[in-house]
Amino acid sequence: MPEQLKCEACGIDFPTKEAMMQHGATVHKMPSTSNQFSCKSCGAQFDSMSALQEHGKKAHAM
Ligand SMILES: [Zn+2]
Ligand SMILES: [Zn+2]
Repeated sequence: MPEQLKCEACGIDFPTKEAMMQHGATVHKMPSTSNQFSCKSCGAQFDSMSALQEHGKKAHAM
């Protein structure tokens, strides 16, 4: 299954993550790295909730 590549601002779907980020950067003036999932414990940033949760388990034994 491809990961969900949808602009959170306007709901457009994109075929690639790069296309989505390019859209966000140009249309919504978002930073090119849309790491909206950051670890509350150490500040590390991730591009998916699952990656953040995996980090939490390994790095902080949460
Ligand atoms: Zn958009
Ligand atoms: Zn952390």
